[in-house]
This record gives sequence, structure tokens and C-alpha cells, in this order.
Amino acid sequence: MKLTDNLYFYPEKGILDCNTYVIKDNLTVIIDPGFTEFLPALIEDLGKDGIDPEDIDIITNTHLHLDHCWANTALKETSGAKILSHPLHQKFYNITLIEVSKILGLTAVGFKEDGYLDNNWLNSGDMEFELIHSPGHSLDSICFYNKKEGILICGDVIFNQNTGRVDLPGGNGEQLKHSIEELSRLKIEYLLPGHMDIITGAEKVKRNFEFIKENILSWL
Ligand SMILES: [Zn+2]
Ligand SMILES: [Zn+2]
Repeated sequence: MKLTDNLYFYPEKGILDCNTYVIKDNLTVIIDPGFTEFLPALIEDLGKDGIDPEDIDIITNTHLHLDHCWANTALKETSGAKILSHPLHQKFYNITLIEVSKILGLTAVGFKEDGYLDNNWLNSGDMEFELIHSPGHSLDSICFYNKKEGILICGDVIFNQNTGRVDLPGGNGEQLKHSIEELSRLKIEYLLPGHMDIITGAEKVKRNFEFIKENILSWL
């Protein structure tokens, strides 16, 4: 589903999957390909929007919980794209991917990155995204923020009327409060979380931050 001129959204297809976003610019970037079992269906959906797997240049993630990076390797094999990790994903790989998977009773499906994103920026051509480290749900949570169009791809930091859980290894309620406080100051038209609904419109996004601050953060 096309959200803006250069941005596409594919809702999660079931349990252990996540929302996937595609930036189609000079470079085509896929963020969080999700659960491998749903990869054929995701590829079919991409095709409906005229995106061929071979068009994909970069596979990357908001964080390395398994439901977000499970299909990294399978998609790389299908598409020939490169997996570029954020340096913090590499740093906390063992906690976020290996330890958390074990605790959830899942066998971590690892991947080998081909290189790294810049610490602070992702430039796909016409679009530039600031990479904002937003720990609390996980140590390695990164939000992708395009200031010009007010786009925030926020992984599991914020949801529609909720936040990501903080009880897994690397989670921290105080850090999440701080991260959300910082993000709430941004100009956002499209709030694009890793699960459930997206929120569009600055006023609705603002109301969602207010709801979370009043009803969720006070319990963390
Ligand atoms: Zn997560
Ligand atoms: Zn998730």
C-alpha cells in the first residue's frame, strides 16, 4: 500500500510478523521484512505495487527482535539486496536477537550483515532519514525520521494507544519514557509502528502521544 510518493506500507500478516515499510527512491530500502513464513505473501504484495524483489538495494531493521529480522537472510537470497545493520544492532545483537529469542522459546535465526548504516543518517536519494536511537523497548531500537514529510518509522517504541513492552532483556521503562518524550517533540504526520495500525495526521499523532503519556508511561 502506497503511503506517500516514495513510501509503502505492508501490514503484519500474523503472529510473529511485523509491519514492513519500503522506501522507493534512488535506492530501494526495505525496513523490517518480518517473519520468513510470510515472505512469499509479502513479495506478492510488493509486486502489486510494482516493486520487484530485485529492485531492493538495502534490507535493514528498526531493531533485531526476531519478528522484525527473521526474513533478512531469506529476502537477501531472493533479492540480492545487501543487509545493512545499524552499528547499535551489531553491538546488542546477542541480547536483542539471541537472548530475547531464547526467552520467548524461539530459535533465533541469525543473519550476517553486508555492511553498516551510518550512525545518524540514511540517504536514499531524494529522501533523508535521521536515525534516532530510542532505547527502552530494546537497547538497539532505531527510529527512521524524515523531517521534510514528517515520517517516523518507529519500530516497537510507540504503537496506536500503547508502547512496546519493556520486560524483555534490554528493556527499560525509564529509558522508554525518555525516548518517547524526545520523539513527541518531532513534527510527525505519519507515525509508522512495527505492529498494528499506523496513525496519519499531525493532530491524531499528537493525541496518541498525549494518550500514551497519560495512560501508559505513568505505569512503567
Ligand atoms: Zn520488538
Ligand atoms: Zn515487534
